[in-house]
Amino acid sequence: MLDKVLIANRGEIALRVYRACRELGIKTVAVHSTADTALKHVLLADETVCIGPPPSQQSYLNMPSIIAAAEVTDAVAIHPGYGFLSENADFAERVEESGFVFIGPRPETIRLMGDKVSAIRTMREAGVPCVPGSDGPLTDNPEENMRLARQLGYPVIIKASGGGGGRGMRVVHSEAALLNAIAITRNEAHSAFGNDQVYMEKFLERPRHVEFQVLADGNGNAVHLGERDCSMQRRHQKVVEEAPAPGITPEERHEMGMRCVEACLRIGYRGAGTFEFLYQDGEFYFIEMNTRVQVEHPVTEMVTGIDIVRCQLAIAAGEPLGLKQEEIEWRGHAIECRINAEDPNTFMPSPGTVTLWHAPGGPGIRVDSHLYSGYPVPPHYDSLIAKLIAHGDSRQSAIARMTTALSEIVVDGIRTNIPLHEEIFQHAAFKTGGTDIHYLEKRLGLK
Ligand code: ADP
Repeated sequence: MLDKVLIANRGEIALRVYRACRELGIKTVAVHSTADTALKHVLLADETVCIGPPPSQQSYLNMPSIIAAAEVTDAVAIHPGYGFLSENADFAERVEESGFVFIGPRPETIRLMGDKVSAIRTMREAGVPCVPGSDGPLTDNPEENMRLARQLGYPVIIKASGGGGGRGMRVVHSEAALLNAIAITRNEAHSAFGNDQVYMEKFLERPRHVEFQVLADGNGNAVHLGERDCSMQRRHQKVVEEAPAPGITPEERHEMGMRCVEACLRIGYRGAGTFEFLYQDGEFYFIEMNTRVQVEHPVTEMVTGIDIVRCQLAIAAGEPLGLKQEEIEWRGHAIECRINAEDPNTFMPSPGTVTLWHAPGGPGIRVDSHLYSGYPVPPHYDSLIAKLIAHGDSRQSAIARMTTALSEIVVDGIRTNIPLHEEIFQHAAFKTGGTDIHYLEKRLGLK
């Protein structure tokens, strides 16, 4: 196993990685900004290194600082968590060139999947179904682009090849708006991502977001851990996630899961990864691959009993994947609520000191959170403060457990979106399951 791991992240995921290391007897190094000295995993880790001032650019995104911290502490590997540098191929490359293990895929794989045009092309070749669209980046030929859009049928969506985080996309409803939309998206993509390549897809009007979790060792072994439904979104940000996805049959799971496994083997994928699909009218359409651990990984862990972060560490240590596809079983249903420090009505961030924190408990309840009473939530970072996960024998039981947990949880001193979750769990449509990605915004009156 690895001797010492540097955790290049903060908040709940840094604590999650710390705990997995500790269980395996791996020593830990917590790196943190000057705003984060009170973080729970910073207080618990074997060693800590301050890597810069509060702005992420100067701390959690500061590659030389992080690599220097690994050098002075003799860490052997770096876990990037999610967000920050986790999908930065240059960082992965610099980590490996400096003699450390990057806990994630090879830099080439991150680069291949980070560019959406090359990711889609790779997936098409591997037999993974994609959204009907342009074969590669759009040219500057207006007739060609108009012909393609007409062929796909309006509405279409213009997307930046280097886009991410829900940015760099534009829906086009008619031919009159097409060329202008391409030009604007191209300009935005150029300034935001330094890459002006854009591509076109058919815009699906009421899809669900269904994604598959995979694990691969980069040496010919790969498995899928089934799917998650993350359709409950606001501004492309997931709010509630669950596994399995309501209504997906074991046959569909097997069929799509195995296509993802085959794609992993084909590209020599290493580590944990997620294939994101839009799902509409019984069909899956690949949209992108995330080459890291996801926020919502716990729902998969709860239904499979497999510790995904532990697997990431084992794979990084060079161990062959010990899991066989036929041994993976799914038991019951798990749902996760993302609890954010934000106003439940305006969604404005609500940093400040947590005066009282009381975590719920009971059968099937898991809380992944770095909060404690007296913890000051800093204003500089993502507002996720806790993930509340409920597992039960059935979806109905998971919902009942979550509803109870939401009624118990106490976060005083700051505002949170707990009231929003309480409301969602009362919706008849949510109770039925299978709502599309526009459901929540429509329900909130935002659409
Ligand atoms: P990002 O990397 O920015 O998250 P994605 O390609 O994953 O971009 O798309 C983000 C979201 O945009 C999707 O979850 C979906 O809500 C919407 N979207 C993307 N492509 C399409 C499409 N072809 N049709 C309908 N909605 C889409």
